[in-house]
Amino acid sequence: MSTIPSDNIEKKLDANITNKLISEVIRERIQHQNGRFHANDNISDYINPGELDTLQKEVASRVRELLKSLVIDIENDHNSQETAERVAKMYLHEVFKGRYYKQPNVTDFPNAGKLDEIYTLGPISVRSACSHHMVPIIGDCWIGIKPGDKVIGISKFARVADWVFSRPHIQEEAVMILADEIESRCEPKGLAILVKAKHYCMCWRGVKEPNTSMINSIVRGDFRHDASLKQEFFELVKQQPNAMSCY
Ligand SMILES: [Zn+2]
Repeated sequence: MSTIPSDNIEKKLDANITNKLISEVIRERIQHQNGRFHANDNISDYINPGELDTLQKEVASRVRELLKSLVIDIENDHNSQETAERVAKMYLHEVFKGRYYKQPNVTDFPNAGKLDEIYTLGPISVRSACSHHMVPIIGDCWIGIKPGDKVIGISKFARVADWVFSRPHIQEEAVMILADEIESRCEPKGLAILVKAKHYCMCWRGVKEPNTSMINSIVRGDFRHDASLKQEFFELVKQQPNAMSCY
């Protein structure tokens, strides 16, 4: 396709990259190990120390090209002069940091008190962007746990949720990935997650429905097998402020 820059143009985009673009180096490393680099995958294991800085410069050069293609005068428009650098920094270190940063440190403790009552946490704010349009998905998450042999501090759930959601996603997959991450860290007997989020690809563009939210949930272990436990979780969530209102 004529809209895709040729290899030669790509390589001229950043004077610091003489041979291969750092994104190519990282991509080849992932492919060599049969890894995956979908939008909602974490690829931090394939990024060496210092490479994120080089990647940020490459992304900025691409955003600069995007702005030029949008016919925005990045030389003379004082508002747009540093936009490429700001956007690159925002993608790699803020809104999509869950792709490039290592998982947060989560220490688990033995469930010494043999607690087996369910508890519910929330709302935990979650922020993501849809993989289709790269515009925000912003919402709240509630987590229900029936503890197993291990427990983790309650603030850790918010850290893991932030790490998982800070990637381009579709909401259903985000919830599944979060469930996998929580299960692997504290091996609960039961886990339930509910996310209610507003999708800016529905309220900012497209059908422009500002009040629609998407709610989805996942139940595993005892929450899946025991209907009364599942009911208890949804009842607890329903009592929470925000759960049934719009933001
Ligand atoms: Zn979208």
